[in-house]
Amino acid sequence: MKTDQNYLDLDKQLLWHPYTSMSNPSPHFLVEKASGCEITLSNGRTLIDGMSSWWSVIHGYNHPTINSAIQEQLSQFSHVMFGGLTHKPAIDLAEKLIAITPTDLQRVFFSDSGSVSVEVALKMAIQYWNTQGKPSKQFFVTPKSGYHGDTFAAMSVCDPENGMHNLFAAALTQQYFISPPPTGLDTAIKSEYLDEIRKMFEENHQCIAGFIIEPVVQNAGGMRFYNPEYLNQIRALCDEFDILLIFDEIATGFGRTGKLFATDHTNICPDIMCVGKALTGGYMTLAATLTNDKVALGISHEGGVFMHGPTFMGNPLACSAANASLALLDEYNIPEKITQLENWMKAALIRCEELEQVKEVRCLGGIGVVELHHPINLHDIQPKFVELGVWIRPFGKLIYLMPPYIISEEQIQALGKAIYQVTNTLPH
Ligand SMILES: *Cc1c(COP(=O)(O)O)cnc(C)c1O
Repeated sequence: MKTDQNYLDLDKQLLWHPYTSMSNPSPHFLVEKASGCEITLSNGRTLIDGMSSWWSVIHGYNHPTINSAIQEQLSQFSHVMFGGLTHKPAIDLAEKLIAITPTDLQRVFFSDSGSVSVEVALKMAIQYWNTQGKPSKQFFVTPKSGYHGDTFAAMSVCDPENGMHNLFAAALTQQYFISPPPTGLDTAIKSEYLDEIRKMFEENHQCIAGFIIEPVVQNAGGMRFYNPEYLNQIRALCDEFDILLIFDEIATGFGRTGKLFATDHTNICPDIMCVGKALTGGYMTLAATLTNDKVALGISHEGGVFMHGPTFMGNPLACSAANASLALLDEYNIPEKITQLENWMKAALIRCEELEQVKEVRCLGGIGVVELHHPINLHDIQPKFVELGVWIRPFGKLIYLMPPYIISEEQIQALGKAIYQVTNTLPH
């Protein structure tokens, strides 16, 4: 029988983890079980979860409602091909997604991960312009500091500096980058920013199929919050220059910013929208690309078909998990619940502002961010958090919380205390 140490040694030897080296891997912790907002390691240590496992486990781990939904589906069938066959879990989910997303979005394409849903969105935009007799519209405008996934087309619209563009420069499509939206949720609109976009559109609209952006919050590219009014203005510019507007709601969807979708902070609707991450309550991988009739029927014009079809498209187990997760979300009062979470996080994190290491503390909905002056060494800092009984995984200069929505005030306080203590030990 293998001991826990045998397992960890094998992990080190055999397994690649996200963004890690095989010769100098960072420490990894062996998980035994997880329930509610707690992750229990094989050594018996229990960690309060501040990450929702990359922002997806919004109802906590091992939720009885989602468990039984999956079990029920499992007793029927766990998968069938989506070519030529269909099933109720996918149909129910499509109906529900269309009902809760902005009104124009009426058609759903399921795929297996967020990155792929972005690929699908970009392909939809290019195919749409093709059928409109504008085949030169093949490229995308996107703000810097964005993150849209790790596959090739998704990478091409990620921030060019921290988005691995240097490594893959020759293999990546050259897209059109503009500055990131000025930060601050309530900061007055800077007309120069909109002028920059207008100029970019004026000069290049013949080549531009779409404008892709994470609405209201740029997430993995720096946890930057910006004024939703920019999106209203960008919508108008896109209309003026025949450019499709694509919202990547993979991180912000399903309540994270205090509204069901970040788009709900605006008074406009994108042409294409990607959702993923929290879609299944973090149970399994599933994403969706939604679009309006204009794009869907445009692509389908004169016998046109949309050219994408993943093997595990619309997986029934994943769809049943998503249906259960959305039913749970229905039971919450999102604005109330997430505002409460925001207030707890503000109270728990604000004390960090007195530390010299800290540049800024900011919170929006279920996102709490402590931005430092200097980048963090994850190798050193991760074990410190584990020692303190919390699961927090910083990146760059950011220590942040994106906890499950069911977390308690005491658990938030414990997370905040750990962040304060660990930050206080860092050089400044
Ligand atoms: C995580 C993320 C993606 C990529 O999703 P994966 O499921 O990891 O492929 C794309 N866009 C945004 C905004 C994300 O946060």
